[in-house]
Amino acid sequence: MAFEGLTDRLQKAFKSLSRKGKVSESDVRDAMREIRLALLEADVNFDVVKDFVKSVREKALGAEVLDGINPGQQIVKIVNDELTKTMGEAAVPLNKSAKVPTVIMMAGLQGAGKTTTVGKLTKYLEETEKARPLLIAADVYRPAAIKQLQVVGEQVGAPVFEMGTDTNPREIVRQGMAQAAANHNDYVLIDTAGRLQIDEKLMQELSDIKDIAHPDEILLVVDAMTGQAAVDVAKGFNEQLGVTGIVLTKLDGDTRGGAALSIRAVTGKPIKFTGQGEKMDALDVFYPDRMANRILGMGDILTLVDKAQKNFDEKQAQELTEKIQANSFDFNDFLVQMDQMEKMGPLEDVMKMIPGMANNPALKNMNMDPKDLAHMRAVVYSMTPKERANPDLLNPSRRRRIAAGSGRPVQEVNRMIKQFDMSKKLMNQMSKGNMNGMDSMLGG
Ligand code: GDP
Repeated sequence: MAFEGLTDRLQKAFKSLSRKGKVSESDVRDAMREIRLALLEADVNFDVVKDFVKSVREKALGAEVLDGINPGQQIVKIVNDELTKTMGEAAVPLNKSAKVPTVIMMAGLQGAGKTTTVGKLTKYLEETEKARPLLIAADVYRPAAIKQLQVVGEQVGAPVFEMGTDTNPREIVRQGMAQAAANHNDYVLIDTAGRLQIDEKLMQELSDIKDIAHPDEILLVVDAMTGQAAVDVAKGFNEQLGVTGIVLTKLDGDTRGGAALSIRAVTGKPIKFTGQGEKMDALDVFYPDRMANRILGMGDILTLVDKAQKNFDEKQAQELTEKIQANSFDFNDFLVQMDQMEKMGPLEDVMKMIPGMANNPALKNMNMDPKDLAHMRAVVYSMTPKERANPDLLNPSRRRRIAAGSGRPVQEVNRMIKQFDMSKKLMNQMSKGNMNGMDSMLGG
C-alpha cells in the first residue's frame, strides 16, 4: 500500500504532540525530527525535506500555535498545508489547443507506463469530453510496442496510426498528424520509445518529434516505485526536452512517497495524473490537497466520491432504490452492487480513502481478500434464477445444494444469506429515513 510507512511515522510524530495541552519549543523540535526522518525514510529528496521542515518549524513555533487550544491538531494542519504546497497547491488541467487537434506527446523510460497511460488518458478524454483521439505508435525499437498500443487502442475504442518498425519515428509522426487532420480527430496522443536510461539519441529523437508535432502537452510518465530515481529522470527529461506535466504511475504499489513529494519541487513541473493500476480506468487527476490528506492518513473522501460518481449508473441506482424501498432487493441486485463496488478498485484502497480509516487497527487486521468477493459471487451464481429473485426460497436443502455447487462450506452460505437479510432490512429502514435502523440492527 502506497505511503504506508510514511503515514504511520507521521501519525506517530503527531500523537506525542496531541497528548499535550500545551506544546513547548522542545516538543516541536522533537516532532520536527520525527517528521524529517519520516520524510527521508520515504525517499523524499534531501533539499525538499530541508525546506519542508524549515517551513513547518517556523509556522509551528508561531505564538498562536503554542498558545492554541489543541496544538497537536494545529501542527497536523500546518504539515498538511505544507505537504499540499510541496506537491503544487491545486490540480493543473491538461493544456488544450485553441484549434484541433490538441497534441499530447508522451515521454519516459521504458516500463514507466507510457503505453498504458496513453490508453487510460484516451479513456479519460472519451469519458470527460467525448473526445475522439488518434493514437500514434512512434516506438519502433521494441517490436511488441506497436502491438501493445493496438491492444490498448482496441480496449478503449480508439484508432492507432502505425507504419511498422521500418519507418523512422519522425516520418511516422508527420504522417500520423496528417491523418489526424484528415480525420478531424480532436486529440492526438503520441506514444514514444523509452530506454532503460536517458541517452543522447533518444533525447534527440524526442526533440525532433516535438518540433514536428508541436505538442500542447509533453507528459512525462514516471514510475513512482522508483522513488528518487524517478525524480532524477524527471529532472533530466525536463532539462533536455522541456516537459509540461508529469504522470506518476504505479501509486497502487508499495511506493514510499518520495517521488510524489519531491518531483514538483525539484522540477517545477506539475503532476497532472496518477496511475493507480493496470486497468484502463486506473487513472486519477492529481489533487495535491487530496494527496496530502491521504499521506496523513486522513482519507481522501473526495476522490472516493469522484470514483463513485464515475462508476455510478443513475438508472441502475434508481432501480435499486425503488427495489430497496419496496423491500424486493434480491440476489440479482446484490450482484449488480458487487460489480459497482469492484469497479471502484481494491476494497482496501477504497476503505483507506475514508477519513480515519487508513490507520484504523480494525482495517489493518481485516482480511479483505478479493477471494472473499469471488466466493460470494460463486455462492450467488450457484443459486437458480428463481432463488436469486426470491431469497425466501432458500431452505436448508437448497442451501446445501448451493454450498456443494459453489464449493463453499454450508456455514458460509448460511452466514452470507443472513448478512444479506440484515443489510436488506437495514437498507429498507434507512431508505425510509429511519437512521435508527442502524442501532437496532447493530444491537440486534
Ligand atoms: P512503457 O514501456 O512506458 O510503455 O510502459 P508500459 O505501458 O508497457 O507499462 C509497463 C508495465 O507497467 C505494464 O505491465 C503495465 O501494465 C504496468 N503499469 C503501467 N501503469 C501502471 C500503474 O499505474 N499501476 C500498476 N500497478 N502497473 C502499471
